[in-house]
Amino acid sequence: MNEFDLIERYFRQKSAYSHIGVGDDAALLKDLPIGMKWAICTDVLVQDRHFLSDVNPFCLGHKALAVNLSDLAAMGAQARAFTLSLVLPEANPSWLEPFSKGLLTLAQQHDCELIGGDTTQGPLTVINITALGYVPLEQALRRDRAQIKDDIWVSGDLGDAAWALKQLKASAHCPDDMRLRLEQPTPRLALGQSLRGIAHACLDISDGLAGDLLHILKASDVGACIELSALPLSAALQACPRQEAFELALSGGDDYELLFTAPAEQRAAIASLASALALRLTRIGCIEKEKGLRFTLDGTISPHVYRGYNHFI
Ligand code: ADP
Ligand code: MG
Repeated sequence: MNEFDLIERYFRQKSAYSHIGVGDDAALLKDLPIGMKWAICTDVLVQDRHFLSDVNPFCLGHKALAVNLSDLAAMGAQARAFTLSLVLPEANPSWLEPFSKGLLTLAQQHDCELIGGDTTQGPLTVINITALGYVPLEQALRRDRAQIKDDIWVSGDLGDAAWALKQLKASAHCPDDMRLRLEQPTPRLALGQSLRGIAHACLDISDGLAGDLLHILKASDVGACIELSALPLSAALQACPRQEAFELALSGGDDYELLFTAPAEQRAAIASLASALALRLTRIGCIEKEKGLRFTLDGTISPHVYRGYNHFI
């Protein structure tokens, strides 16, 4: 199978949002609804760094798009289209078939169209997706809008993906629901869009809450305090020794939950949102004037320091 057959067979899509999608030198996109601005993000997944070569290709296709949709969600944007650049050691149908299924199934769920890409042979698998969405400019959920006294909220449970990875690495038992949290994360697009006009600042947690929250603090020039006993933990993490559970929840990567700040008067609105979306939303701390990130345990300052994941240290 040559490169062009491969594209035709696995990645050619019907165009709804583009005049021209896959198949020409560049895609030509239709106009956005009035008042909307493009939100564009990109993410690269590298074999042996972000995934192992024997990972389930359906899950990998899902995850490659999910991490990008999660970035759009964190801006309050609606997904529209994406490009896919692939470096592959070989054109293997038994990998490409499930990979493209996982990818395009998630894309269809969010009405997000594959409009182009690039395919080349190379020594190991690298997947780069650039996703395009749209959001009204004034309502985009930015990192630099947190305000002193804002509540800090997170969606879902924290640390599940890190827990699952730890189990898999140790060849220990990992229940399917926890493995899916690692391999098929759910981008919180509906939440992000519903938070327009409610949240002040927002980001998605990809490298551990402790590191990611610092981005909001720095951009907004504020500090924060997190109450450890308030962290939302699934049953598996609750069964861990407490310190280990906090470590996984704060420093483990790959959560793809949203962290957002909102004024106290939005608490009722956020509670209704949680039930409307059937998604846990938990208040875990507060934005403060004093710079830096502090942790308390049952109200007492915790001596332990938690850090996020960083590629270059
Ligand atoms: P060019 O040589 O003009 O850059 P290519 O031959 O790389 O174009 O690609 C041909 C068409 O297939 C283009 O429309 C491109 O966007 C699309 N394409 C290539 N690789 C992929 C892919 N992995 N997924 C989706 N579309 C792709
Ligand atoms: Mg060309």
